[in-house]
Amino acid sequence: MPKEETGARCISLVVPLYNEEDVLPQSYERMRAVMEGLPLSYEIVYIDDGSHDRTWHLLEGISRENDRVKGIRFSRNFGHQAAVTAGMDAAKGDALVIIDADLQDPPELIPKMIAKWEEGYEVVYGLRAKRQGESAFKRLTAALYYRVLRAMSAYEIPLDTGDFRLIDRKVADAIGSMREHNRFLRGMAAWAGFSQAPVEYVRHSRAAGQTHYSMKKMLELAKNGVLGFSDKPLTFFAYVGVFAAIVSAIGLLAAAIGACFRSVGLWAIAFWTLALLLGVAIAGIGVLGAYLSRIHDEVRARPLYVIREQSNFDRVE
Ligand code: UDP
Ligand code: MG
Repeated sequence: MPKEETGARCISLVVPLYNEEDVLPQSYERMRAVMEGLPLSYEIVYIDDGSHDRTWHLLEGISRENDRVKGIRFSRNFGHQAAVTAGMDAAKGDALVIIDADLQDPPELIPKMIAKWEEGYEVVYGLRAKRQGESAFKRLTAALYYRVLRAMSAYEIPLDTGDFRLIDRKVADAIGSMREHNRFLRGMAAWAGFSQAPVEYVRHSRAAGQTHYSMKKMLELAKNGVLGFSDKPLTFFAYVGVFAAIVSAIGLLAAAIGACFRSVGLWAIAFWTLALLLGVAIAGIGVLGAYLSRIHDEVRARPLYVIREQSNFDRVE
């Protein structure tokens, strides 16, 4: 791309806010300083996710003094993933950076992400080299969860990453075309494909205020990750059922032979018959699961494929 065009490229920061009055002014200043130091144009899209404090009031002030700042205010708290989605829908940039307001994701990493993007990577995700100021419990459960999810998911969801990432316009459009309600953005980015690269950073503790990710919200997100990107919990039953049925069938045969020679009682036949029926019932649940998984797939209505590039096709805008 010629030099003069590079200058015209625009980066959108997408920043969700929920009761962030304590951190917003400082957070805005740091993001603005980083973005103004770059030879690119930028916008900051803030989404007030139904805050009860002065967040929106502060946001109105900031957007009056800087017209690169855009604000969206939700009618109530819809949650972090919905807030980020709204910001992605509204962002106009050639690349989007999804970043938390609380400065746990350092804005100073953005230039590095942009450098990787300019090398040609379409997703540049922040890889948490170290976490500071988070409890041992949170670190342990997070580490465990990411590993279980990776083992269960059919898509490459990178370990130890959050939503802090830069995504190219093409990736944003692909994710934006997925309108599923139970959203798990990092899984959706993995599903979308494209070339991905990590940038390491130390995750600091919150600059001010406190976490809004309650245990309940965290479990909800963890559940969306597993249920949205793996059908293993459903197919698990099919395997258990078939295994139980095979073992019981062998048991029943052995019991029947034993009964002929009067070496085992009839109770053994009754036992193995019940076990066999149970195995068949569990396998039946697995079969139901297989259909359910297809219905799930269809109602989500994800696009069938995502195109990276085309050649010799007239692009119709
Ligand atoms: N957030 C949001 N809606 C919510 C919860 C959080 O928009 O319901 C925002 C919050 O303002 C912050 C980001 O999402 O910018 C991450 O939240 P938080 O820092 O509370 O989570 P943690 O980093 O502790 O997991
Ligand atoms: Mg945080």
